[in-house]
Amino acid sequence: MSVWALLVAAGTGERLGEERPKAFVGLGELPLLAEPLRRLDESGWIDAIVVAVPHGWEEPAILLAEELSAAKVVAAVTGGATRAESVRAALAEVADDAVVVLVHDAARPLVSDALIERVLAPLSEGWDGVVPGLPIPDTVKSVEGDRVTGTVDRAGLVAAQTPQAFLATRLRAAYAGDLGGATDCASLVEAAGGRVRWVEGDPKLLKVTTRADLDLVAGWL
Ligand code: C5P
Repeated sequence: MSVWALLVAAGTGERLGEERPKAFVGLGELPLLAEPLRRLDESGWIDAIVVAVPHGWEEPAILLAEELSAAKVVAAVTGGATRAESVRAALAEVADDAVVVLVHDAARPLVSDALIERVLAPLSEGWDGVVPGLPIPDTVKSVEGDRVTGTVDRAGLVAAQTPQAFLATRLRAAYAGDLGGATDCASLVEAAGGRVRWVEGDPKLLKVTTRADLDLVAGWL
């Protein structure tokens, strides 16, 4: 079974307040991108990796992969204006014989082999896609402007993380159509009628958005 990983790193990361894109902001000695890239490359579950980066950052991404001896990286493509467009650009590089595609946000550096295994396993049990989810500890409100319009039953909710894993045929079909405002891959597979399940996520897969998140991840490292 051939498993391809798409590492999407083409966001601008404006909320970090840095000049460079988020994936190239320092985390320890190296750019943030180095951490998830090394982890995916070292995973025994992954055969090949495609990275999506902002325009102009393709070569630095390839040089970083070489510096890390990340030999599974086959391409660094130019991402799009939205996450979904970046995924579509990376998906175009995936070999026709790929069976499974795993999509991961570079902004969640601490991806573990245990979680990769957890999202891959259900694909051999008849599921089309698998997402890691975390139960929501806070009470969730629906709002319109300043006004609270309701309280959502959190018992039926989880917060979706990445890596998300899919049968390659299902992911390709989902990305062949309109991408709408999709903020994750699973929503497109769900909309295309795919069977998606969730598995327990990992609190350490926090998505780095602010400087405080970056400091927290650096501390965990
Ligand atoms: O913007 P957000 O934090 O939701 O992005 C999640 C992931 O998607 C990040 O790793 C980011 O680099 C990536 N992304 C992308 N292309 C975009 C926007 C976000 O690859 N246009």
